[in-house]
Amino acid sequence: MISVFGSANMDLVAYTTIAPRRGETVTGRAFSTIPGGKGANQAIAAARAGAEVAFVGAVGDDAFGPVMRGTLESAGVDVSRLRVVPGSSGIAHIVVDDDGGNSIIVVPGANGAVTGVSTEDLAVIARSDALLLQLELPMEAVVAAARQAKVPVVLTPAPAQELPRELLAAVDLIVPNEIEAAAITGLAGPEEALMALLELVPEAVITLGGEGALYGSRTGERLRVPAVPVKAVDTTAAGDTFVGALAVARAEGRPHEEALRFATTAAALSVQRAGASTSMPTRHEIDASLR
Ligand code: ADP
Repeated sequence: MISVFGSANMDLVAYTTIAPRRGETVTGRAFSTIPGGKGANQAIAAARAGAEVAFVGAVGDDAFGPVMRGTLESAGVDVSRLRVVPGSSGIAHIVVDDDGGNSIIVVPGANGAVTGVSTEDLAVIARSDALLLQLELPMEAVVAAARQAKVPVVLTPAPAQELPRELLAAVDLIVPNEIEAAAITGLAGPEEALMALLELVPEAVITLGGEGALYGSRTGERLRVPAVPVKAVDTTAAGDTFVGALAVARAEGRPHEEALRFATTAAALSVQRAGASTSMPTRHEIDASLR
């Protein structure tokens, strides 16, 4: 079982020819509401990749809360630790223009109300093979969960920000993309950044987009796994799909290289389809693609 302590957001996406300037109103072309948030995305990715998954987090008492709960549930995720708090759910208000440019306002809403981890949350986490964390909840809550989890902690350090020492001390595996790895270590080269990350945590994977992923451990293991060559349509949540699938393969006890191939295969399937949670492959699809 995999547990995820993280954010659930509703992405509200307006598509327009030209984005409005301050004081201006424009008529848009289309609008969609897409359940997202790094926590919910990783939970759905792991569930679709074949694990039992429990999600710990919060939604608001608005119209989006039940939609996000329903999305998690229909992916088979246990939502018994999903709380409802007064006020708005987490939302990402996104404007996409015809040049493909976007501007985004993220309002943490209910995610911002998650300031800690309860005894009941910890009981669920303790039953899992790994706890997945990201940085879209208040840092104090992320640190509390990492420190009190009695299971391996996998951190996606996004959105990039300074990482407290207490957090790093409780992380077993960190999975940044290339930009986040550079932000954490101050080193642009992935090989150098990997070495620096291993000074901070026992294991690290740097995802390299279309170049695949780089793994290292303090025990001296190094692996470079290429991406599966595909035509990328939408790389939204590629990283979340990767982490969800990686956690599943590791929980199944697969060797590191095999687990990385499972994750790059899942992520490659997701980038060939539009959307976040809607683009995540099922176990059947991942297995078929690996054959
Ligand atoms: P993030 O989405 O967090 O920025 P990356 O862009 O590094 O993370 O992508 C995560 C993983 O998704 C990569 O390690 C790779 O396996 C897969 N991936 C991303 N882009 C592509 C692509 N263009 N073709 C194939 N696989 C991709």
